[in-house]
Amino acid sequence: MAYIILNKNNFFNNLDIIAKSTKGRDKIALVLKDNAYGHGLSEIASMAKEYGIKRAVVRTCQEANMVENFFDYILVLGEIPASKSDKIRYTINDIKSIEKFPQGTKVELKIDTGMHRNGIAMSELDAAFSKIKESGLVLEAIFTHHRSSDELTSEWFWQNDNFKKVKERAKELANEFGFGTLRFHSSNSASLFRHVDFDEDMARVGIAAYGCMKLPSALNVENLKPVLSLWASKISSRELRAGKRVGYGGDYKATKVCVVGNYDFGYGDGFLRASACGYKTPNATELVGRVSMDNSTFMSSEDELLIFDDATEVAKYAKTISYEVLTSLKPEIKRTVI
Ligand SMILES: *Cc1c(COP(=O)(O)O)cnc(C)c1O
Repeated sequence: MAYIILNKNNFFNNLDIIAKSTKGRDKIALVLKDNAYGHGLSEIASMAKEYGIKRAVVRTCQEANMVENFFDYILVLGEIPASKSDKIRYTINDIKSIEKFPQGTKVELKIDTGMHRNGIAMSELDAAFSKIKESGLVLEAIFTHHRSSDELTSEWFWQNDNFKKVKERAKELANEFGFGTLRFHSSNSASLFRHVDFDEDMARVGIAAYGCMKLPSALNVENLKPVLSLWASKISSRELRAGKRVGYGGDYKATKVCVVGNYDFGYGDGFLRASACGYKTPNATELVGRVSMDNSTFMSSEDELLIFDDATEVAKYAKTISYEVLTSLKPEIKRTVI
């Protein structure tokens, strides 16, 4: 098997940088969905607790239950629960789903301020408040998500303006319906760093904490460091004469005598097959031929080979984003924190 090394110093370094922007560790809501972006849910949750993170964001009820003991507050983005919980808050993604939540559930209302994916329309705000009241739910927060916070365009600004309007009306409605003081949040990683003077109740931070945020240079955030590196062990090696070919389809042809090593990981472990196009490891070791399900051959005879230590680099070869490279890594891969 391949194995994953998680670098705690780099994780804490990133959290320090994030906490400066949020103005406090207590305002960081660490996004742990999809096995903590492939890093390992329990490993990251445990380090986050050690650092002093109190809030987490997950996708499912199952993930929430798995990290319940690590945090004071958990927000579930994508599921309606069977029963209410003290610690866990659930997202209302659609006005039609409000009656499906058990009475007394703590909920956060997601507003569609322009992404048109999840959330109620801005025009449905008044109706949603009265439905939430009728259903006996406990409304704690209003939030939204940006569609283009990582792009250097005006989109982030008009979505912010939309959310500002939502905030004003929601405060009035909260008074009217007796929901007390609501919390507001709208920022993911890229959006947080675009605020000059961040003043929301929390930021939902994923990719920046994992150190794999890729932004246009004008928006770049200095000194974030990747947390995850992927290693693999050699199964076998062989000497090839010039003209010999490697792997399925014989895609790679040796131009001179060389030694290649075959390593015990492939797309079955989540290493994208698409990254094969000319991929080189951080130590400039060349991947030769196609990536197989459980095997990948490199121009190397090292027993332990560093495959990557920055998912954004692999993403370039695979023509995708670091998020996909990371979340593709299977939960069965052994993770070790150093
Ligand atoms: C995934 C997600 C985030 C985190 O985004 P990053 O770009 O990784 O910081 C924040 N909010 C919501 C609603 C998400 O789905």
